[in-house]
Amino acid sequence: MTLRERYERVLERVREAEFHARGSVGGVRLMAVTKTIEEPVIAGAIEAGVRLLGENRVQELARKRSALDLTGCEMHLIGHLQSNKTALAVQCADMIQSVDSIRVARAISAECVKQNREMPVLLEVNIGRDPAKFGFLPEETQAALAEIAAFPGTLIRGLMTVPPFLEENARTKKFFSQMFSLFLDIQGKKMDNISMDVLSMGMSGDFELAIAEGSNLVRVGSAIFGDREYR
Ligand SMILES: *Cc1c(COP(=O)(O)O)cnc(C)c1O
Repeated sequence: MTLRERYERVLERVREAEFHARGSVGGVRLMAVTKTIEEPVIAGAIEAGVRLLGENRVQELARKRSALDLTGCEMHLIGHLQSNKTALAVQCADMIQSVDSIRVARAISAECVKQNREMPVLLEVNIGRDPAKFGFLPEETQAALAEIAAFPGTLIRGLMTVPPFLEENARTKKFFSQMFSLFLDIQGKKMDNISMDVLSMGMSGDFELAIAEGSNLVRVGSAIFGDREYR
């Protein structure tokens, strides 16, 4: 299969999954995760229709942003942000999905003020309570939101998660559904300066499950580009 065929196949599966989900069909955004993928391949993906791209490293994101024509596209940061990369991230990303601590949020805010720009952000939730993962624990999330909402420059748009990798779908499904409950709960509270409209969850192995449980942004890498080669 060509890249275009793989992308179109994933998009079809996304639309199909939406029929069985709670949201309206067409409302789920498909992100192509381009980490480790070379620029010419990404250019081909954009040609094939990709408009939302995700990178997990700031420097790689910055490099690709300057090498590619991203007119009409958005490129989001989806990996942990180290404090010495904050300035570059604020300069180059259209959204930071991986705000995983108050400290990171505060650094982004300070940088937004300095660069005079606004940054849409998602709070990353460690829904599986995995000690090896970044993110807020579910019970910390609302207090963190309230605190971060008061920071200038950052606009909270929603939540993101990477659940633990599990063989059994039933357990992954439970994590996704817990995320959806948290998302709805926060939405219902109508907190100041927060628009809870993005729920980013689901990757190549589980995006249909995530959509069924309420995701409206799926981050798909290998199902579009093939297996990654790390160098
Ligand atoms: C790499 C990555 C993905 C995509 O993973 P695939 O399994 O290749 O679809 C999604 N989200 C994050 C945060 C990632 O780092």
